Amino acid sequence: MTISIGIDLGGSNLRAAAFGGDSATPLAVHREAVGDDRAPEAIVERMARTIERLAGGSADPVTVGVGVAALLRDRRGTVANSPHLRWRDVPFGELLGRRLGARYRLGVYNDVNAITWGEAVAGAARGYRDVLAVYVGTGIGGGLIAGGQLIEGASHCAGEIGHTKVRWDDDAAPCMCGGRGCVEAYVGGRYLIARIRRELANKRRKTTVIERAGGSIDAVTPGHVDDAALDGDAWALALWTELAALLAVALGNALAILNSQRLILGGGVLERTPALRTMAEIDLMLVAPAASLEPLTVAVAELGDEAGLVGAARLARDGVSIIE
Ligand SMILES: [Zn+2]
Repeated sequence: MTISIGIDLGGSNLRAAAFGGDSATPLAVHREAVGDDRAPEAIVERMARTIERLAGGSADPVTVGVGVAALLRDRRGTVANSPHLRWRDVPFGELLGRRLGARYRLGVYNDVNAITWGEAVAGAARGYRDVLAVYVGTGIGGGLIAGGQLIEGASHCAGEIGHTKVRWDDDAAPCMCGGRGCVEAYVGGRYLIARIRRELANKRRKTTVIERAGGSIDAVTPGHVDDAALDGDAWALALWTELAALLAVALGNALAILNSQRLILGGGVLERTPALRTMAEIDLMLVAPAASLEPLTVAVAELGDEAGLVGAARLARDGVSIIE
């Protein structure tokens, strides 16, 4: 049985799983904290040891796919920038490939691309050839599949829906990418939580949200706002109405270009804000062109954390962007 190994290198955890043949059920899994020593050489060494252990003793070739929470620069796994790992211009793919040697065929992917492919292999996008996956967590990431192929783009930056603009006036919110008016700067969890707390602190509006969080503004999460909006809380509803529309504009514009058949919505924020998600889906019916909506179905991501492992392993096994 051929073995393929999927790895998810995030800001907090290094996770790995071995898969046999076509199965999406892991034969073995491994998880460790990334920890404080984030020097590329140290991470490469730890990752290589994990890979060798999961691959077992035989000399059979093994494919390895690594999903990295990073902006990649090329198809050789060069990390242009990863705020999570504090890496800049790191030739990660070459370092790992050299350390592993000839037995291993290696591919390095953007983590959201790996997650999207995982959902297509074994999750909510299974059986669909044209997929847009959008994950709203701390930031907003996107993955594209068109005609059954993962679309990585000329420099691996395709699918960055979080940095598409939804406002372009003088008050457009600044984004950590250096731009402003990005949908991420409104709906991405990091910005959303900051705004919620700022509004609650400054305006003393009449709202039940602080109460729901046990009386502390610092404990308020988007989930509390979602619960309040469902109960008709005016402040929460107004905020969700504004943000749902902005998210829907970004989704509708992407769908106008992609003509996807399946839209997958996931990520830590959307998983905990069903009201916001429903409102965005309703707005999407208004803002997306009718021709884009006709073939479209919308689903919630199914695989959670496992998607990136399944997807990275399968991309490498399918020969996508293998480092020569
Ligand atoms: Zn941005």
